[in-house]
Parts: sequence; C-alpha cells; structure tokens
Amino acid sequence: MNVTVLGAGYVGLVASAGLADFGLSVTSADIDKGKINLLSRGELPFFEPQLAELVQRNLQVGRLHFSTDVGAAVANSQVIFIAVGTDAGPDGVPDLRYVWSTADTISENLSDYKVVVIKSTVPVGTAAELHSRISSRLKTPADFDVVSNPEFLREGSAVEDFFHPNRVVIGTRSEKSAAVMRDVYRPLYLIETPFVFTTWESAELIKYAANSFLALKVSFINELANLCDAIGPSADIHVVAKALGLDRRIGPKFLHPGPGFGGYCFPKDTRALCQIARQHGVDMKTVEAAVAVNDHQFRHVVAKVRTGLGGLEGKTVAVLGLSFKPNTDDVRESRSLAICKALLDEGASVRAYDPVAAEQSAKVLKHARLAYCQDSYQAAEGAHALVVATEWNEFRNVDLGRIQSVMRGDLLIDAKNIYDSNNAKAAGFRYMGVGRR
Ligand code: NAD
Repeated sequence: MNVTVLGAGYVGLVASAGLADFGLSVTSADIDKGKINLLSRGELPFFEPQLAELVQRNLQVGRLHFSTDVGAAVANSQVIFIAVGTDAGPDGVPDLRYVWSTADTISENLSDYKVVVIKSTVPVGTAAELHSRISSRLKTPADFDVVSNPEFLREGSAVEDFFHPNRVVIGTRSEKSAAVMRDVYRPLYLIETPFVFTTWESAELIKYAANSFLALKVSFINELANLCDAIGPSADIHVVAKALGLDRRIGPKFLHPGPGFGGYCFPKDTRALCQIARQHGVDMKTVEAAVAVNDHQFRHVVAKVRTGLGGLEGKTVAVLGLSFKPNTDDVRESRSLAICKALLDEGASVRAYDPVAAEQSAKVLKHARLAYCQDSYQAAEGAHALVVATEWNEFRNVDLGRIQSVMRGDLLIDAKNIYDSNNAKAAGFRYMGVGRR
C-alpha cells in the first residue's frame, strides 16, 4: 500500500517513518524545501530521540521517500495523511489554512479511491468540512473517504508512543475506510492496542478533551503548590501529590508542579476547546480556569527570583533548560522562554543553557542582555541566581558545589523541584523549590 503523509513536522515525520517501519511504502511530503533536502540526506530538521535511526533505516531499504511534490505524492497513494500545523489564530480559533491548502491539492489529484486521514488537531466539524471541500473541487468525479485519526504522541518520546500508543482513535463514516485503517495499523492490532472506532466529531473532540484534561491536572497541582508556598514549610506539595496520585481514581501522572504547561499543543488546544464550546453556547469554565492559572504560573517563578534577590534590575540570572519539556528542542510556548523574557523585561541579564534547544531559542528570543551558554557551569558564571526551568536529566546530575563556586550569588530557584533541598543547602545555596521547603 502506498501512503503519503503531508507535513514532515514532529507528527508527520514520526508517522511517516513509523508507517514505513510497518512495511508500507511511504512518501513524506512537505512544502519546506530545506526540510526535505535535509531529510533526503537522512538528517533530521529537529531533535527527537530514536527518530534519526528510524528514518535512516527506512530510507536505506527504500520504504521511505521524501518529496516536495505534494500533488504527485497524493496521486500515487491510496491513503493520504494530513499532518500539517494548525496554529492558534486570533481568539484561540485554530488557523486551518494549511489543512485547506492540502485539501485543494488532494482534490486536484484524486482519480481512484483514496482515504484522506486528518491527523492534525482540528476543531469539531473539520472532517465534515474537509469532505465537502474536496467533493466540491473535484475536477472529475472520484470516490474517496475522510477519516479523523487524531495523534496523541508526546514530543521527547514520540517514536515510543507511535509504536505503543495507549489507543488509536478512528473517526469514520464508512466501513470501507475503517477497513483500510485497520490494514494501515495492522501491526498495532497484533499487539492488542485498543482501537476506538467512532464518528468524525467524537474523534475530533477526544483529542481536545485529552489535552485539556491533562492541562487541568497541571494547573490544579500548580495551584496546590502555590497554596503550599503560602502555608509555609510545613506543607509539602510532593507529599500531597504523591498521596493524591496513589488514589487510583486520580493517578500519579501530570501531578508535578512547575512553571506551567507550554509546547505546541496544550496552550492552543485548551484555548481551541473553550472556543469550540463557546460556538456551541457552552461555557467550558474548568478549562478556561486551567488556561488562566497557566498564563500566570511562570510569574510565580519570576517573583521568587525577584524576592530572593531584592529586585532584578542589574542582576544576572542563569536559566537552565529552554525547551518546553526535556528531550525535545521544541520551544513553542516554552514557559522557560517566558521566564527569560520576564527577567529581561525587568532589567536582569540572563545566561541560558539547554542541552539541545539553544539554536531554536535564539530564533525566537534575542536580547543584548541574553547569552546562550555551552553548559550549566558556563551559564552559572557570575550569576546572582540560578533557575532550573526544564527538568533535563543532565541537570539532576550537575555538581552543585562547582556551580555555586562560579556564581556571584547563592540563590537557587528549582522551578521543577529536581533537587534535594538539603543537598542544595550543603552546596552553599539558598534553595527555593515550588510548594515545598
Ligand atoms: P510542525 O509545525 O512541526 O509541522 C507541520 C509541517 O507541515 C511543516 O513542516 C510545514 O512545512 C508542513 N506543511 C504546511 N503546509 C503544507 C502543505 N500544504 N503540504 C505539505 N506540508 C505542509 O507541526 P507538528 O508539531 O507536527 O503538528 C502537526 C499537527 O499535529 C498539529 O495540528 C498539532 O496540533 C498536532 N499534534 C502535534 C503534536 C506534537 O507534539 N507536536 C502531538 C499531537 C498532535
């Protein structure tokens, strides 16, 4: 079976390489020539663990191809996945211009039966609109189906998630297209992955519901951590979160306090769900609250630095971690960058370090008082305070004594609670975590 994946971003590239590994013949097509040139040489345009090996392996055996000729890729395939970006537009309404542009290319290149699978995260009603749009623009009558197949992979463990998803959601309007999707995902069927076959609209809503629910958990634990801070040293968010997570109805995941959620998906998907609900006359009050809490959460970290240093003007702050979470170079909506920007706005100088995300960060945040450093120790040189904003494993293992010895000040703001406060104190730091002693 020939498959095309439109969009070679975090989702599209993982899906292309993963489907090729299933044994399908896959063309990964993107309009970004630079990206496709890199990929054709087996190089990745972004950092994602295990992905380079997967791409190279499937390139070598000839199951994976890269192309900028989106029309030809569509014409030669039975199944076309749409995995283009759906950035938030004004008021949180997702901007679907890339989805519509792929729809137009598909309608121009449709002759025999094809299944068009929308994998991008899109508002409820998009699959129906996609079907009408393609139908209305066909040059000659042709048979096709639209399937909604939202993606749940996590950047940083995307390859693992592709091969071992918690579930696969398939929204269809025809048994014929459902059968094609079963064929595409046969290897996942064989390992008894749960499949949820449903309507287009439920499939679309499931994606927003999943991300919004996780966002609720994050904002809830962040508010509880803020409360622990206000109560004082006798209240410890780690103990509270651990006991909460032991309740099987709640579970331990996404109960780690910090500077708030970022990344490409949670911020835009929570806003989109609120907007979709408003369009249907429903107030999504819980999700709106989670968004409002999150918008403010990084400011608690900045306030700790300000209070700890007695003001920020003229101070130097080292910031460790720039990506929105560990194991990725994605800095979209990164809370760490929001912290850096707020520190700069208040007159501080920032010395930042990230194991892989400095290059991406430098594209979106440049400032005369911002220096990107080569490692944690270089970032700490001459700093009055150190902020850990993203919990990369390498930060857990730094020599805190050595870091402290090169700093001018002694303040450590551990915004992800990765250090033991006693160890930090023994290394000479004034330690402040989030919601704990
Ligand atoms: P991305 O920005 O990394 O990649 C999108 C790609 O689409 C870009 O390379 C762009 O050049 C390409 N593109 C745009 N128009 C095109 C066209 N007409 N033809 C071919 N290619 C085109 O985006 P992403 O992070 O991969 O996200 C894609 C979708 O998946 C979004 O809807 C997102 O919400 C959803 N999603 C993302 C994640 C994630 O963790 N990144 C997880 C689940 C779902």
